[in-house]
Amino acid sequence: MSTIELVGLGKRYGDFTAVAPTDLHIAQGELVTLLGPSGSGKSTILSMIAGLTAPSEGTVRIGGRDVTHVPPAQRNLGMVFQSYALFPHMTVFDNIAFALSIRGVAKRDIARRVDKALEQVRLGGLARRRPSELSGGQQQRVALARALVFEPEILLLDEPMGALDKNLREQVQLELRQLQRDLGVTTVLVTHDQEEALSLSTRLVVLDKGQVQQVDSPMQAYRRPRNRFVAQFIGTANLFSGELSQRSGVPTVRLADGTEVVCGDAGDAAGAVDVVVRPEHIELLPHDAGDGLQAEVVESVYLGQSTKLHLRTGGGVPVIAMVQQRQLDVSPGRWLRIHWRAEHAWPMPQ
Ligand code: ADP
Repeated sequence: MSTIELVGLGKRYGDFTAVAPTDLHIAQGELVTLLGPSGSGKSTILSMIAGLTAPSEGTVRIGGRDVTHVPPAQRNLGMVFQSYALFPHMTVFDNIAFALSIRGVAKRDIARRVDKALEQVRLGGLARRRPSELSGGQQQRVALARALVFEPEILLLDEPMGALDKNLREQVQLELRQLQRDLGVTTVLVTHDQEEALSLSTRLVVLDKGQVQQVDSPMQAYRRPRNRFVAQFIGTANLFSGELSQRSGVPTVRLADGTEVVCGDAGDAAGAVDVVVRPEHIELLPHDAGDGLQAEVVESVYLGQSTKLHLRTGGGVPVIAMVQQRQLDVSPGRWLRIHWRAEHAWPMPQ
């Protein structure tokens, strides 16, 4: 059992609240990502789970055990940071073995455990190399092997892909996800990269200014954001402000210019709302169509697979649309109508 529970866990520095009291329950085998802009409190939460930062209040439980006052080395966790901190003069094997030998593990056990960890990250053939003879992705895997060699209950990853370029990062992300799933090790990842968070996580914890904004699956956080911050931090959001009311049981938002937007579902929103519509859900209609909002093309950027349109509605709201269709003239200055299915309009309380 290696669940992680945070109960009212918070951190203050003097008058400044780095992390407001936070409750979170992470189940065995989950990969939960702490996602937010720089300074939102992600690393502080990870560091409190690790035992490197003492909380100002609250409790950390790992596998049901209260570890709030237990030193890091006795929490049975593996950690990987952005700077891999490998010893440059040691081989890959020795870098991993070192961690075991300083903890007094017997020599014959060390060799067996290092070999196993290297197999897990598929670096078996490179044990004799030095870090400088490895690619960035391989170095990252050595750092991961060094964390896994302890067979930790919990894996904590702080921007582990931060030093890799984009293509390599995608490959390493995929490997990490497969390995984490195979090992079933409960994992907490810190990143400010929303694509990374969406592609890797079973759940996201979205943070802003030390406050949890939403805890949800990536799909739910993208489709059903709880507020403007989450909507704009995860992906691109078009936002239409207005007043939500029920018209014969159909949630309908009246925008400032009098036009109406129908929503498929309204959750618990009521009154003043921002309606989110994602760029890929916006369809274009000719200007003389009866349906949709009037919008003028401001800029049109051809991207190969799709075209990114910057538009402005008759009411002056900026809109971004990702469209595939090429039938309509979308040159700047053209007026058309934009339309979306009701299920793709999601109202959030303002
Ligand atoms: P993130 O990981 O999301 O970038 P951090 O958890 O590192 O954010 O920091 C959260 C906030 O706490 C930041 O405003 C940071 O400046 C502040 N902070 C972190 N460590 C300290 C410290 N030792 N003393 C004072 N403020 C700190």
